[in-house]
Amino acid sequence: MGLTNSSIGIKAVDSGLEIKKQLPGDKVIALAGNPNVGKSTVFNGLTGMNQHTGNWPGKTVTNAQGYCSTKNHSYVLVDIPGTYSLMAHSAEEEVARNFICFGEPDVVVVVCDATCLERNLNLVLQTLEISKNVIVCINLMDEAKRKHIKIDLNAISKRLGVPVVGAVARKKNSLSTLMEVVDKVVDGNIKATPLSIQYPKEIEEAIGVLEPVVKNKVGEMLNSRWLSLKLLDQDESLVREINTYLGYDFLNDEELNEAYAHGKSILDSYKIDSDLLKDKIVSSLVRKAEEVCLGAVTFEKEGYNASDRKIDKILTSKVTGYPIMLALLALVFWLTITGANYPSQMLADGLFWVQDRLTEFFQYMNAPNWLHGILVLGVFRVLAWVVSVMLPPMAIFFPLFTLLEDAGYLPRVAYNLDKSFKRCCACGKQALTMCMGFGCNAAGIVGCRIIDSPRERLLAILTNNFVPCNGRFPTLIAILTMFFVGTAGGAYSSIVSALLLTSIIVLGIFVTFAVTKILSKTLLKGVPSSFTLELPPYRKPQIGKVIVRSIFDRTLFVLGRAIVVAAPAGMVIWLMANITVGDTSVLNHCASFLDPLARLMGLDGVILLAFILGFPANEIVVPIIIMAYMSQGSILELDSLVEMKELFVNNGWTWITAICTMLFSLMHWPCSTTLLTIKKETGSWKWTALAAGIPTAVGIMSCIFFATAARIFL
Ligand code: GDP
Repeated sequence: MGLTNSSIGIKAVDSGLEIKKQLPGDKVIALAGNPNVGKSTVFNGLTGMNQHTGNWPGKTVTNAQGYCSTKNHSYVLVDIPGTYSLMAHSAEEEVARNFICFGEPDVVVVVCDATCLERNLNLVLQTLEISKNVIVCINLMDEAKRKHIKIDLNAISKRLGVPVVGAVARKKNSLSTLMEVVDKVVDGNIKATPLSIQYPKEIEEAIGVLEPVVKNKVGEMLNSRWLSLKLLDQDESLVREINTYLGYDFLNDEELNEAYAHGKSILDSYKIDSDLLKDKIVSSLVRKAEEVCLGAVTFEKEGYNASDRKIDKILTSKVTGYPIMLALLALVFWLTITGANYPSQMLADGLFWVQDRLTEFFQYMNAPNWLHGILVLGVFRVLAWVVSVMLPPMAIFFPLFTLLEDAGYLPRVAYNLDKSFKRCCACGKQALTMCMGFGCNAAGIVGCRIIDSPRERLLAILTNNFVPCNGRFPTLIAILTMFFVGTAGGAYSSIVSALLLTSIIVLGIFVTFAVTKILSKTLLKGVPSSFTLELPPYRKPQIGKVIVRSIFDRTLFVLGRAIVVAAPAGMVIWLMANITVGDTSVLNHCASFLDPLARLMGLDGVILLAFILGFPANEIVVPIIIMAYMSQGSILELDSLVEMKELFVNNGWTWITAICTMLFSLMHWPCSTTLLTIKKETGSWKWTALAAGIPTAVGIMSCIFFATAARIFL
């Protein structure tokens, strides 16, 4: 069976079955749907909460819960993972299926995309097989209208045998009809007669043998027809869950085993093996979905999504796909670098002005020098550095990135890179997790949950660190500007910076491919899983919302985390720089100890030490280097890169040092938060250690290789 979840240490995603009701009488609504159909928007619209929304499949991985009430009832809303099916192929599908099946929700609302209803009905039909109280909410009706798609809600409702409601979740008040229908279903005022899917007669024959026995065992607790089918389908994970749910060993029941053997022999006599059975089940669902839509969904104009397809042709073609991707990346960097310069300077000026006032205050209070040193020259200065260097680029980078995400571009990136990843025996969704890693590697690691196969998920987790996160960008940009662009500024300097930064990222991507390939041929052997990459429709992003969301959800979150680690780190570094043993500071002692290895890598002891001390957060690496070079043991007021370059060059930096430092910044151990996240996601110290070891080893080797080659040939 190959690698299973437990054999490679991926923890099952939280099934989230524990419902937190506010009142015992609260009714439970499960919110299901394919990815990207506006499920989070419906959830947020009903609960007033603000779940993060993103535009790629599967970003809701755990079950978020919220509350809403009508005049009849109060409800707990459970947002289950976005999935295309309930066949439990992936962690998300398993969570979704488990909740619908065993979570005993009072109502299951399946949110669908009106622009591709037929495909969405696959999930609806599977839900109808499991659950009695299903409501179909056809969202994005405005988009359907724009694309001249007409949907006869009544006809669909009649054919499915359950209530169907149209919605435009983005609009306020559009969800009131949905809640009215939910009330009616809960109060028993709507009697549903859900359609039953007919399978080919061989399968029906086998179900017919098994179903009466199953019904006898489970009564009304579970749908016996569906359960019989799943038993014939040998859905192991489901059987495990059923045993837990029913509290007895379902499969060891003699009568049931006999019926199962009988049913199986019927399938065998028709030469239907497990794969063929699955195939036939899926085709029946697809055919049924077609039937339901026939005549009820009409396209008033031919080629309704022709414009999307035209754009896709350009954005995902072999010739133009890659150049556009790189150009967009470079553009985002250029906007970030150019836009961040001025506010960074202003913030630095402002914060160092505050520092002078703080110093005056400490002098006025006659505070001891060491206290002033620790608090002002240590903690405050490091904080000032982190805020002024990080905040402006993040405040520009994150909204730009979220905009691309919201408009639907990121799934195209995954599509473009899919072939390359397949060649490395991995999957295209890894590209999306890399995109998330640009912001923060810890977020990228959590994002790896969108990858279904545990093996491929682990590949993505182990290599995520090769995309530099926001904490490493400032270091890369500063070194690039000082040594390769010229510190004098000028019209072209930011363009050159952006292009060089893009090359570094491209190098990171190549290393990701190489390491992924090596891992998938050695430790994590396996064939790439086949999955259909969804290309969602392009949507006009909601710019205001994007800005607010990326500032609050991402920028301030990442900055807050950086500040929390930077403050104590500032104190420790100041102490290390100011406590002397003999006549050398502790910092310099440590640096001298590391010096031989560092020199071999084209660095010096101070730089390597800065990376080690920067373990809590990458953004403090440069401040530590500066502090260690300064004899007075505190960060100098570096208001210009010219001064910084002078300091570095005086301490022996050459362009080789600069390149090696950038290489090591791109490839070394992940920060503490990322490592903790990896431990949490993989549940294993072994994989966590490997996630730290691989980039470090690659980084050390690359630096040694580059430094040696440069020394020999240049
Ligand atoms: P989820 O993946 O199913 O949770 O989908 P989201 O709630 O994240 O929505 C995906 C995108 O569709 C977002 O950009 C939403 O703003 C947008 N969206 C959601 N509902 C509607 C709608 O009714 N009309 C339009 N035009 N856009 C919508």
